[in-house]
Amino acid sequence: MNGVGDVDGERRDPRPDAAKWFLSGDDDDRARYRDAMRRACDLVLDEFAAEATPYSGATPEEVDDALARFEMLPHEGDGVAAALDRTEPILRNSVGVSDPTCIAHLQCPPTIPALAAEALLTATNQSMDSWDQSPAATQLERRFVGELCDLFGYEDGDGVFTSGGTQSNFVGLLLARNKVVLEEYGVDVQHEGLPPEARDLRILCSADAHFTATQAASHLGLGENAVVTVPTDDDRRLSMAAFDEAVADLRERGKRPFAIVATAGKTDFGSIDPLGPLAERAAELDCWYHVDAAWGGALALSDDHADKLAGIEAADSVAVDFHKLFYQPISCGAVLVRDASAYDLIDRNAAYLNPVRDDDAGVPNLVSKSVQTTRRFDALKPFVTMQALGREGLASMVEYTIDLAADAARLVEADPDLRLVHDSDLNVVVFRYVPDHGRDGGGPADGPVNGPSADDLNEAIRDSLLDDGEAVVARTTVDGETCLKLTLLNPRTTREDLRDLLREISDRGTALEPTTDDRHA
Ligand SMILES: *Cc1c(COP(=O)(O)O)cnc(C)c1O
Repeated sequence: MNGVGDVDGERRDPRPDAAKWFLSGDDDDRARYRDAMRRACDLVLDEFAAEATPYSGATPEEVDDALARFEMLPHEGDGVAAALDRTEPILRNSVGVSDPTCIAHLQCPPTIPALAAEALLTATNQSMDSWDQSPAATQLERRFVGELCDLFGYEDGDGVFTSGGTQSNFVGLLLARNKVVLEEYGVDVQHEGLPPEARDLRILCSADAHFTATQAASHLGLGENAVVTVPTDDDRRLSMAAFDEAVADLRERGKRPFAIVATAGKTDFGSIDPLGPLAERAAELDCWYHVDAAWGGALALSDDHADKLAGIEAADSVAVDFHKLFYQPISCGAVLVRDASAYDLIDRNAAYLNPVRDDDAGVPNLVSKSVQTTRRFDALKPFVTMQALGREGLASMVEYTIDLAADAARLVEADPDLRLVHDSDLNVVVFRYVPDHGRDGGGPADGPVNGPSADDLNEAIRDSLLDDGEAVVARTTVDGETCLKLTLLNPRTTREDLRDLLREISDRGTALEPTTDDRHA
């Protein structure tokens, strides 16, 4: 019915006017795409040109006010130019992740090749669940995962890209749970749910493990109490002596430790658990061995640092995030398994996506290995980055930023107003401003008389840096004390940037501290 409403003999196009906002081979559509992408590109470039500090300093209310004048669901649209112009206050009030002093979290500046890849993968909009929605993308992801498996030493490995460490840790523990329940209690959890005996299952991880291990235990129906946290040693690594005690205690109480989660790069300290010894214990205790290498996995790229991951090749599953130390835009992570057959534990066939017929014909439908259905083609980003920079280029950034953190630790040690709280294996520095030159007591009771406590001072320093947009640094609590943390992912940050920032932190601390007169007033 193409000719409804012939006007003067001409056929009116029945398609909605909005159909012009799609990319096609048509010259006008192509021009609209080019125009939109150029405008987006210019907005980004203008913002970077204008940006002198890592944050505007706007408060939540101020940011909200700046956005309040926009209707979120306007009745009529007014075109791409006007729409994109409205993103200006959003860009202006975003944190500048590429700024040398935007160093709070594991939030990396993304590489330019990866940003270009992001444009390609969104334009093609492939979905990784079935081969007929992503033919080349599926094959590329498989190849990329294959080489990652080689990098970590898994000959018969497999894996898929994930939204990040949270999902990767969940999948590792999901496989672990299904395996132990099947093998030990003869129950197929996927179909029958958890048997009563599952109440005795326990997961061992270090006290500083990422909270997502506990979260996964809860989502898996084991309950957060199934996670037994093992104390760490002075270097913030899981203590093997404490581990053995914890296992003996569990055995005595009739509990079944079935999974060990080691961390390679703890979020606050960058420390790496003893991966080799834990691999041995996992074998002895018949435990699934999961390594959360969301951050530290990138060490595998560096000849200088790869040995810090020794033992990871024995893991049953590994989480690696590319949106951290691989410098990829969010989201981009992967979970790898040492033995590809582990995926049988979550096997599922949907008639419309991955019918058994496809399996038999060798057509790869990656939905069978993922807890997501529709899934982004994120593998394109590290692929393009690797082609552009090489492993060597990525390794150089890992090495530089680790050296930078070591330099920053030395600068902290040399400053009488600051105390180094942890000397890291990775690119992070945790320290504390110590009021009144080292009379650092911690809690309010030990603070200067009538003055703010040392905890309050550290918090206030962090807040004032953010409020002024001067620097974005993190605060965390270590052994009950508020500390400051610099996560140094940015390869553009220099030692001088850090020297200036640390001096600024000391100065702000001193300025915020009440003077002797105030105290005795
Ligand atoms: C970042 C991180 C996670 C969480 O990963 P997301 O990518 O944020 O989902 C888990 N574990 C560790 C060690 C991490 O650094």
